[in-house]
Amino acid sequence: MKAAVLEQWKSISLRQVRDPEPADGEALVRVGLTGICGSDLHIFNGDIPIARTPVIPGHEFMGSIAALRGPSPAELAVGQRVAVHPLVSCGACVACRRGHPHVCAELVVIGVNRDGAFAEYVSVPSERLIPLDDDMPDEVAALAEPFAVGYHACRRAALGAGERLLVIGGGPIGLFAAMVARRLGAVDIAVTEPVAARRDFIESHGFRAFDPLQASCLSDLSAFSAGEGFDVVLETSGVDAGIDAAVAAAAPRARVVSLGFPAEKFARYNVTLGIMKELSFIGSRVYPREEFCDTLRLLSETLRAGEIAFDRLVMDVRGLDDLERSILGVADGEARGKILIRPT
Ligand SMILES: [Zn+2]
Ligand SMILES: [Zn+2]
Repeated sequence: MKAAVLEQWKSISLRQVRDPEPADGEALVRVGLTGICGSDLHIFNGDIPIARTPVIPGHEFMGSIAALRGPSPAELAVGQRVAVHPLVSCGACVACRRGHPHVCAELVVIGVNRDGAFAEYVSVPSERLIPLDDDMPDEVAALAEPFAVGYHACRRAALGAGERLLVIGGGPIGLFAAMVARRLGAVDIAVTEPVAARRDFIESHGFRAFDPLQASCLSDLSAFSAGEGFDVVLETSGVDAGIDAAVAAAAPRARVVSLGFPAEKFARYNVTLGIMKELSFIGSRVYPREEFCDTLRLLSETLRAGEIAFDRLVMDVRGLDDLERSILGVADGEARGKILIRPT
């Protein structure tokens, strides 16, 4: 099959490789569409600790079942269209035993430290497959992964209807999280984003965008929240200034959820203010399988309601030949939507 192989950091080559051979309990998936995201650039550069080479990247994908080997869930059949929950857990560590396999100590992420979907075929454990409804378009299913990241962050915050929401960072994760939160009933949703093209894109989807580099940003956010602050803040930027702004703009006893990894692991922000307001600081990492399924249901609802302009969320669909260029240009592309790769 044709596959894009990351041979070593910063070196991806498109070549013929042997088709993956599913083990017992695994499925061979014919890849339909695979999204490119910021983590693909970090994987390409060697900045993600669990990543390894050689590897075929690609963790946001949908496709159809080409073969099932050994025991598999009864709901699955060859030919069926599926989304893929791309996490494989050990089942034995503390997190797994306590029912949180998505924070497994030995977590394997398909497309990060196991071959993924920038290829014609990928083999995955059958239990990771989620059958798609007939009315779910391929393009929307391929966006389920980054939407699930936002959904999990909202769940971690226990976001309730009528709560004010601030999202720090307006890349696809921030924008999709805002869309999920709107569906879950959040109100007065604001997004901070320094890149003007992204702010325009965010506003075109019905949210208020603020420039964090403007001196008036915090007072503008305060005014937007009627002087009360935000009940939930989702921090997707990972930069000190973003976390500090999250603390400053939060309402008393708000929940501040970190889902953007900082470049340097540690961050500086106003801890005193965090104590004075009694803020809850929460970490959010990927998503459990149930919430990935919930996300697909939520996307179906928003489709029916016509609430999200999905056609404008996908900037371009390209072939595998365009992968390296697309990964290197991901920051630019994300200002106008996601790039999807169609490997076959
Ligand atoms: Zn991703
Ligand atoms: Zn585990």
